Amino acid sequence: MVAVADVLIAGAGPTGLTLAVDLARRGVACRIVDKEPVFATGSRGRGMQPRTLEVFDDLGLLDAVFAHGSAYPPMRAYQGSEVVWEGVMSEPTDPTPDVPYPNGWMIPQWRTAALLRERLAGFGGQVELGTELVALEQDEDGVIATLSRDGRAERARLAYVVGADGGKGAARRLLGVPFEGVTQEDFRVLVADVRVTGLDREHWHLWREPMIGLCPLGGTDSFQLTIADPERELATLADLAGYVAERTGRTDFRLDGLTWLTEWRPNTRMATRFQVGRVLLAGDAAHVHPPTGGQGLNTGVQDAYNLGWKLAAVMGGAPGSLLATYEQERLPVAAHVLGLSTRLFEQRTMTRGREERQLGLSYRGGPLAVDDRPAPGVLRAGDRAPDGPWEGKTLFDVFRGPHWTLLEFAGPAGAYDVRPGTWVLVRPDGYLGVVTENPATVDACLGHLGCARDDVVTARV
Ligand SMILES: Cc1cc2nc3c(=O)[nH]c(=O)nc-3n(C[C@H](O)[C@H](O)[C@H](O)COP(=O)(O)OP(=O)(O)OC[C@H]3O[C@@H](n4cnc5c(N)ncnc54)[C@H](O)[C@@H]3O)c2cc1C
Repeated sequence: MVAVADVLIAGAGPTGLTLAVDLARRGVACRIVDKEPVFATGSRGRGMQPRTLEVFDDLGLLDAVFAHGSAYPPMRAYQGSEVVWEGVMSEPTDPTPDVPYPNGWMIPQWRTAALLRERLAGFGGQVELGTELVALEQDEDGVIATLSRDGRAERARLAYVVGADGGKGAARRLLGVPFEGVTQEDFRVLVADVRVTGLDREHWHLWREPMIGLCPLGGTDSFQLTIADPERELATLADLAGYVAERTGRTDFRLDGLTWLTEWRPNTRMATRFQVGRVLLAGDAAHVHPPTGGQGLNTGVQDAYNLGWKLAAVMGGAPGSLLATYEQERLPVAAHVLGLSTRLFEQRTMTRGREERQLGLSYRGGPLAVDDRPAPGVLRAGDRAPDGPWEGKTLFDVFRGPHWTLLEFAGPAGAYDVRPGTWVLVRPDGYLGVVTENPATVDACLGHLGCARDDVVTARV
């Protein structure tokens, strides 16, 4: 048996990689393994929500994300060649001081994963490919994970294991945690990455009956092709090209390259627990939903972001009850997101509102939110910490990094509708932990929140 790391992350999709980056920057010794021998291709989760952009800002990835993707193009629906409708998925909004990245961004999932791997490499970490989690045993002091690689088994002892191994992953099954929900077997959507000649890249092209979409993937020369519920098997480029030409009636463009093809069925399921002892579940391993609304990858990234600082703090001596707040905070969020994506899927709508941006998700009323003011304002403990101008920089500049931030307010400032003398303790994941007018409350909460005084950066606003 070898003990080489404190944490094992099973699964190197966006969730596992985000957690690996966050733990690496906190100096936690961590292994990340994936059962596949090569990295996944495919545009899959290409819609990045504004809240995820903020997470990637904090993790030092945002410039790379913006350098490689694109804004969502306007949609154009046709009957054959005739344009019958034009619109946008959601109206672009101008940045404001409190919301610097208000709009979604499109970037293929394979690229997001590659950027996360690059960031991880910057901290000296790398994914162990072809390494499958096959068994778990745990006691009060640790977990023994059995990993299979090239037909050989390795038993590794760890402080914690995180199952970020997707909807069909092993961790949840090994823990015996039910994955409650439904899979709709009578409907499927084909999704492919294709090259197209003769079609402009300024629009997301759509046809109805059946719904066919060709969306240019920013930062690549490909389009994401979607075909809703085709009545016959389409397995090759020739099949897809023939079907698209037949159903759109268009001969002025052609599909001439296929790099990835998959199919999904509406699948809405949630694990009944996100933690069993020293094993935690995150991302699709904990919840799956239809891709409508572009919530899956985003919710997984934010699971990881909620979990990273708590795991690091508990390994640094914070009470184990802090780790329990991961499930307490994220399970209701996942349930909410499941409802949202299912509703959007059932409505079959192409336009999106504000809710999908995930900026309004809050841990208000949760186990870590302390707000003892006599007259709380609009912004409360548990809410996302808004950005705002600060000494020629921004609050996000102050928040960026693995630390906590204590803001001392001389009066209301921007989105912070607080009275003079208010203290706001901002968690490492950018949510308000404590809002108080009593400095003693801050001190009392630091230990409970797993926060050492040295980890706190203070700023007067
Ligand atoms: C067509 C399509 C479109 C989508 N569009 C969007 C979108 O626009 N926006 C959005 O947010 N989401 C979208 N999603 C959802 C998104 O792709 C997923 O939510 C996301 O991939 C979840 O990431 P993850 O890291 O949790 O899991 P995964 O990406 O599934 O990664 C899990 C990893 O674990 C590995 N693994 C599995 N078992 C083991 C094991 N036993 N040991 C070791 N490794 C293992 C797998 O090989 C895999 O690499 C879409 C999905 C599909 C299919």
